[in-house]
Amino acid sequence: PYDVLVVGGGPAGASAAIYAARKGIRTGIVAERLGGQVNDTLGIENFISVNYIEGPQLVAKLEEQVKEYGIDVMKLQRATRLDKNDLIEVELENGAVLKSKTVILSTGARWRNMGVPGEAEFKNKGVAYCPHCDGPLFAGKDVAVVGGGNSGIEAAIDLAGIVKHVTVLEFAPELKADAVLQDRLYSLPNVTVLKNVQTKEITGTDKVDGISYIDRATEETHHIELQGVFVQIGLVPNTDWLGDMVERTRVGEIVVDSHGATNVPGVFAAGDCTNSAYKQIIISMGSGATAALGAFDYLIRN
Ligand code: FAD
Repeated sequence: PYDVLVVGGGPAGASAAIYAARKGIRTGIVAERLGGQVNDTLGIENFISVNYIEGPQLVAKLEEQVKEYGIDVMKLQRATRLDKNDLIEVELENGAVLKSKTVILSTGARWRNMGVPGEAEFKNKGVAYCPHCDGPLFAGKDVAVVGGGNSGIEAAIDLAGIVKHVTVLEFAPELKADAVLQDRLYSLPNVTVLKNVQTKEITGTDKVDGISYIDRATEETHHIELQGVFVQIGLVPNTDWLGDMVERTRVGEIVVDSHGATNVPGVFAAGDCTNSAYKQIIISMGSGATAALGAFDYLIRN
C-alpha cells in the first residue's frame, strides 16, 4: 500500500505529492488530467515570484518536479469510489483498487457554464471566470458579469475599479447577493444592473464583441457591445464520487480543519474541492502542502 495517495493532480495535488514524497514515504498520485484547471489558463500573473507564466508551462513544471521525487504517477485515471477498511481504498474507473494508509483528496472544481453560444468559443478570448486572475486584462474596457449572487457582485465591484464599465446580468427578478454588497455596488458610478434577464449569446468574431440577452418581462432581445464577459454562476467541486463518508458543505465542498484533515481519520483534502475561502493556484498549493504535512503527522502517530 501507499503511505500517501493523492487523488487529483492540479496545483493542490502536485504540491501535496511533492511534500509527502520529500518525507521519504511511499507516495502515489492519480489524476484524470495532470495540471487540472491550470491547463485552461492563458496567462498567470498572480503566482507570486513569477511575473508571468502560461498555464501549460506551469503544468509542465509541476509534472517535472513531481517526477523528480519518484512519485508513482497514474495519469488519465478517474477515481470513482472511496472506502475505508483496514486501509483507505480508492477505486478507479478501470476497476483497479488502490490502497493507502492516508489519502489526500484534491479533485478541484469547475466553473459552472451558461451553455450559450459563444461561451466555449471565446473562452480566454473575452470570456473569463476569475476576476482576480483576468480583471486587469480588461482595464479601460467594457465588461459584463453574469450572475447576481455574492461571487457575481463581488466580481462586479472588483472589476468596476479596473474597467471602464460593468453590466451585471441576473436571471432572477432580484439580486441574490448580501445587502451590504448590493449597497456597495449601487454606489458605484460605472455599473449597470439588469435583472430578470437571460443571457442568450456571446457574440464576436475572433474575440468577444458583445452579449445578447432576453428581457424576460417583455421577451425582447437586446445586445450590448463590450469586450469581456465574466461568468459567475457558481463553482462546482468535483466531489460527487465520494458518497456519504466524507463530510461536505451544502454546495459539496469537503470540510477540512487547519491541518487539512476531513472527518474521516486518515483522509485529508486540499484545494478547490474544499471549503477554502478563496480558490487560487497559490492557495491550492499551500493547502496541498498543509494536507501532506497533516497526513505525515497522522502516519507517525498511528
Ligand atoms: P484543479 O486545478 O481543479 O485540479 C483538479 C485535479 O483533480 C485535476 O488533475 C483533475 O483531473 C483531477 N480530478 C478531478 N476529479 C477526479 C477524479 N474523480 N479522479 C481523478 N482525478 C480527478 N488561479 C490563479 O491563481 N491565477 C490565475 O490566473 C487563474 N486563472 C484561472 C483561469 C481559468 C480559466 C480557470 C478555470 C481557473 C483559474 N484559476 C487561476 C484558478 C486555479 O486554476 C484553481 O484555483 C486551481 O487550479 C485549483 O487547483 P486544485 O489542484 O485544487 O484543482
